[in-house]
Amino acid sequence: MPRIAVLGAGVIGLSTAVSIRKSLPSASIVIIADKFGSETTSYGAGGLSIPTVDKVPGVPKDLVRRWVSDSWKWFSDLTLSDLASTTGNQLAPGYFLCNTPLIDPLFAEYVYSYERMSDEELKKINMQAKYKYGYRVTSIITCLKKYLPWLTKLHLDGGGIIEGRKIENLNELVGTYDVVVNCTGLGSRKLLNDGKIHSNRGQIIELHADWIKYWIYTDDGAYLLPYDDIVKIGGVRQMHNYNIEVDENDQREIKEKCYRLWPPLQGADIVKEWVGLRPTRTPLRLEAELIKFPTGKLKVVHNYGHGGVGIAISWGTSLHAAKLVKDILQSESRL
Ligand SMILES: Cc1cc2nc3c(=O)[nH]c(=O)nc-3n(C[C@H](O)[C@H](O)[C@H](O)COP(=O)(O)OP(=O)(O)OC[C@H]3O[C@@H](n4cnc5c(N)ncnc54)[C@H](O)[C@@H]3O)c2cc1C
Repeated sequence: MPRIAVLGAGVIGLSTAVSIRKSLPSASIVIIADKFGSETTSYGAGGLSIPTVDKVPGVPKDLVRRWVSDSWKWFSDLTLSDLASTTGNQLAPGYFLCNTPLIDPLFAEYVYSYERMSDEELKKINMQAKYKYGYRVTSIITCLKKYLPWLTKLHLDGGGIIEGRKIENLNELVGTYDVVVNCTGLGSRKLLNDGKIHSNRGQIIELHADWIKYWIYTDDGAYLLPYDDIVKIGGVRQMHNYNIEVDENDQREIKEKCYRLWPPLQGADIVKEWVGLRPTRTPLRLEAELIKFPTGKLKVVHNYGHGGVGIAISWGTSLHAAKLVKDILQSESRL
């Protein structure tokens, strides 16, 4: 029975553990992490699926397409199934507004609908003066407050184990596991001394605005995303900023730009504010590595650095990581 440790309990670690279980039913799979649920970046993410190739820089387009395609199938199957209320996936109509035209964005190949808006349509929603281009898009929003617990339950129900601890050095795991899958996101900066991964700080405000049932996403950094009873508004994108505290200036800026974008938001009570650090790396690291320590060798599969599209491509990258794990165990890998 192969012994596998998955490091990380964000959307990437949980998805990867579940994918490995599907391909290796008899494996012993332990998720090891120092943060779970609401303490992870994944928990507070927007969960909107509109990935583009430029959001996954440094990775060949065909590979990004495969990750997006596999992820879209998974999320769409959940969205259209009787599980949707448990998994937190909803079919979500919305507007993508921009001043540079979208040219064959990757998500357009998958979403339920994608149509360019006419000037007349932009005018009807008072956007013509603000944005030159608009697209009506029906996609999927994943509510991570539901999706992460559901993945956790799948892992546990499949016989998986969860261990709460911080790994300071991968050599702690030599001899105990046949393969270690590293899904530590930004944690890889310290754990592997990987200077390529850095933070792209985000801040959002949750408003009690249960009458809003559509999303709006713009290319100038303002967006609103609806869930059961709240709407998340954002956003902030600050490279190399590691501040996890809510910043008042950012809060003011988010309110100003989102209220200007969509006046119906004004007057809605603030429920919560949240900061998350997007684990950003060029390229996203999804590969196998044999690491040699004085105490022995460790077979590692890395799956981290998903930036601002980690939810949208989580399932596809987890299938890829699971395949690498299986190859290593079956000695097909060049390791
Ligand atoms: C404001 C904001 C909005 C976003 N909106 C969207 C969106 O709409 N759509 C989308 O697709 N993506 C979105 N994202 C991006 C998405 O949230 C991330 O890409 C994704 O959550 C990354 O998941 P992860 O599992 O890699 O990281 P995390 O969720 O950060 O999980 C990392 C895990 O690794 C563990 N860990 C780290 N180091 C160690 C260690 N040394 N030992 C043990 N455990 C360790 C942590 O405890 C944690 O469990 C958004 C992000 C932000 C901040």
